[in-house]
Amino acid sequence: GTRRDSARAVIDASGTWQMPNPLGAGGIHAEGEAEFADRIAYGIPDILGRDRSLYAGKTTLVVGSGHSAANAVLDLASLANVEAGTAFIWTTRGTDLVRIYGGGDADQLPARGELGAEVRELAESGGVRLVTGFAAVSIRDANGRLVVEGQTRDGLQALGPVDRIIAATGQRPDLSLTRELRLELDPWLESVKALGPLIDPNEHSCGDVPPHGHRELSHPEQGFYTVGIKSYGRAPTFLLLTGYEQVRSVAAAIAGDMVAADNVQLVLPETGVCTVPRIGVADKGCCGGPAPAAVDACCVADAKAKAVGKGGCGCSVAA
Ligand SMILES: Cc1cc2nc3c(=O)[nH]c(=O)nc-3n(C[C@H](O)[C@H](O)[C@H](O)COP(=O)(O)OP(=O)(O)OC[C@H]3O[C@@H](n4cnc5c(N)ncnc54)[C@H](O)[C@@H]3O)c2cc1C
Repeated sequence: GTRRDSARAVIDASGTWQMPNPLGAGGIHAEGEAEFADRIAYGIPDILGRDRSLYAGKTTLVVGSGHSAANAVLDLASLANVEAGTAFIWTTRGTDLVRIYGGGDADQLPARGELGAEVRELAESGGVRLVTGFAAVSIRDANGRLVVEGQTRDGLQALGPVDRIIAATGQRPDLSLTRELRLELDPWLESVKALGPLIDPNEHSCGDVPPHGHRELSHPEQGFYTVGIKSYGRAPTFLLLTGYEQVRSVAAAIAGDMVAADNVQLVLPETGVCTVPRIGVADKGCCGGPAPAAVDACCVADAKAKAVGKGGCGCSVAA
């Protein structure tokens, strides 16, 4: 049944895990995706653990270009070393894998750097068949196995036949819970609005984000806050460290301690492959992004400062 509670404030920390993105590259289910759902895993299945029998001796298609896909690909490679007949194909919608290959030794989170470096080595050594620029549109049966069709630069291409599919295509927030409320969200990412320009993975790969707290995480709906990975919407770069500071600030604000609430401190480990947030259109030079942070440091500082309402260094951007 439904229970109604009254509250002075509500903190939505419900995450995004229960809303995986579909296999279909356009954000809606690929044709056949529902029909063959029993052979599709979303996110990262436990390939070397409890799901081992599903993948051992089978051929799997991994779809996605994030860390989840990288984990799945590396696990399948390990499995293939010890289980005869195990094969896998890796396909990505985009063609630029710089974000997942990462900054290697320059990544301030060593494990993240290692993950990218390992998957890069696997792909570049031919240890996995990698098909980039493949936008999945349909799944069809092929004598009891599955063939996935996708749009590529050269027209429709088919991958397979495979036995199973791993859709590591990210997650999105479930906004149905709050549909009635006046929320201010980034129209593309469905993140809180202030963070959108700084975490858009199409523009920004640094992994850092300026310190932010209760002000950026609030909405026109008074007393309502979005925190945690849900505050990042569809952006894939959220770290627990960010969430801890978000929650501390929001809790302090609700308790009325505005000094503590506004004293937000956050230093995140950078990825080592930094591109600049494109927050506007500039003719040339500054703010054209993406560009190495060192080249465009003024604009990075400016964008960050503006996003948290703290002025900026004066770099001119037509927003
Ligand atoms: C594969 C993977 C690996 C990751 N690795 C790292 C890592 O190494 N380090 C790191 O910092 N971050 C990592 N992250 C990001 C990580 O998910 C977040 O940092 C962290 O889990 C986010 O915490 P959260 O509380 O916002 O959301 P979650 O951990 O997803 O928690 C949300 C909770 O809300 C519950 N919930 C949902 N809907 C409702 C509802 N309607 N009512 C009540 N409860 C509800 C859910 O069941 C869940 O328990 C990883 C993410 C993924 C997907």
